[in-house]
Amino acid sequence: MSTTTSPAPARTVGGPDLPQQRTLRTAIPGPRSQELLARKSAAVASGVAHTVPIEAVAAGGGVVVDADGNSLIDLGSGIAVTSIGNAHPGVVAAVQEAVAQFTHTCFMISPYESYVAVAEALNRVTPGDHAKKSALFNSGAEAVENAVKIARRFTGKQAVVAFDHAYHGRTNLTMALTAKAMPYKAGFGPFASEVYRMPASYPFRDGLSGAEAAARAISAIEKQIGAADLAAVIIEPIQGEGGFIVPADGFLPVIVDWCRTNGVVFIADEVQTGFARTGEMFASELFGIVPDLITTAKGIAGGMPLAAVTGRAEIMDATHGGGLGGTYGGNPVACAAALASIDAFENEGLLERAREIGGILRARLESLQASDPRIGDVRGHGAMIAAEFVDPVTNAPDPALTSAVAKAAIAEGVIVLTCGTYGNVIRFLPPLSIPDHLLNEGLDVVAAALAAA
Ligand SMILES: *Cc1c(COP(=O)(O)O)cnc(C)c1O
Repeated sequence: MSTTTSPAPARTVGGPDLPQQRTLRTAIPGPRSQELLARKSAAVASGVAHTVPIEAVAAGGGVVVDADGNSLIDLGSGIAVTSIGNAHPGVVAAVQEAVAQFTHTCFMISPYESYVAVAEALNRVTPGDHAKKSALFNSGAEAVENAVKIARRFTGKQAVVAFDHAYHGRTNLTMALTAKAMPYKAGFGPFASEVYRMPASYPFRDGLSGAEAAARAISAIEKQIGAADLAAVIIEPIQGEGGFIVPADGFLPVIVDWCRTNGVVFIADEVQTGFARTGEMFASELFGIVPDLITTAKGIAGGMPLAAVTGRAEIMDATHGGGLGGTYGGNPVACAAALASIDAFENEGLLERAREIGGILRARLESLQASDPRIGDVRGHGAMIAAEFVDPVTNAPDPALTSAVAKAAIAEGVIVLTCGTYGNVIRFLPPLSIPDHLLNEGLDVVAAALAAA
């Protein structure tokens, strides 16, 4: 199969006009994809792995099309990035217009309007009606690094608390904040100092109420660090990479209150949960909390690289001029994409669509769970839903089953992602542009893969 050569397919244009169907013309990977993957393994560092063995050539609506003409159902959105849909027409037009005007000046040299407009939009759409300011960066990890810098400068303190199951990125400080050694940290130390890990709230596994889990964390913080030395507490309102863990009701509000009474900056890392993903613009709203600082990236710009820290003006302004920035941060093309994306989030009914998608996912997964005790838990909000796979007798995590189901679904043309500290969670993060029939068909394929496993 690897030597088959068919004529190069005509260039495929992505976006919502792509045929919204699952089509398998070859086995996955097909011959053209195999050629690219061979070049990849010869040219690209092996640490940069992939989970879906295709050569992507176009995407839009709810599909990703590969070089062999296969059309796969997308239940991952490139890890919660293309929430408004891949190659969204508004983003394509905005990017094309912006890129033809100028590609870069460096905002720290010559400011431009789109950066300021993105900051204004973020200050408006993030939780809380206090005075806010924003700063733009290139990646989620970079946003998290800067949120910690800002919190330290504002408080004059150094320690940072992160939680079990946390994922905050792959740079040195964010590796220190991240809870999972393999693959994110193993062999990459030494890590940044003054980072302390506390127990989180994981109702399926700890059985604690929100108040109990918060009391446990606060007691440990007070004993091991003390508020007098603590600059910031950072947490994902719903933990993403760690397993789509939804904290028990009341956990987050108690932590936020404790931070506020103790002069500690509360940072919500909404890099994965932000921008309509959970059925609210930000997951903090689900829990009734108002973070001091919020980090965003992934869904912010329809796939263009952009990230931000947004927060209380007095905290954001504590840093001396020149203390924040970066050559590319807030690139004008990425900013144009973000403005088009935020417009789509606000005007295309996407919050409602995320809730509808969540209803479909949850109903289907719960009905599977009712007849299959290997699904220990179904959880999440909006278009961010997961199933945790366990040994039905012991409740022990079953990562082997999880990866077998994911691999089988991918081979059948459905892109699903796994996650979880124990590697035993399948996460569903479809683009909000996916039509119902593809979502249902994708779930049929996953159900069949589970039945066969
Ligand atoms: C993905 C992610 C990050 C890191 O973002 P990058 O853009 O990959 O650097 C940080 N925090 C959370 C919650 C994430 O999901």
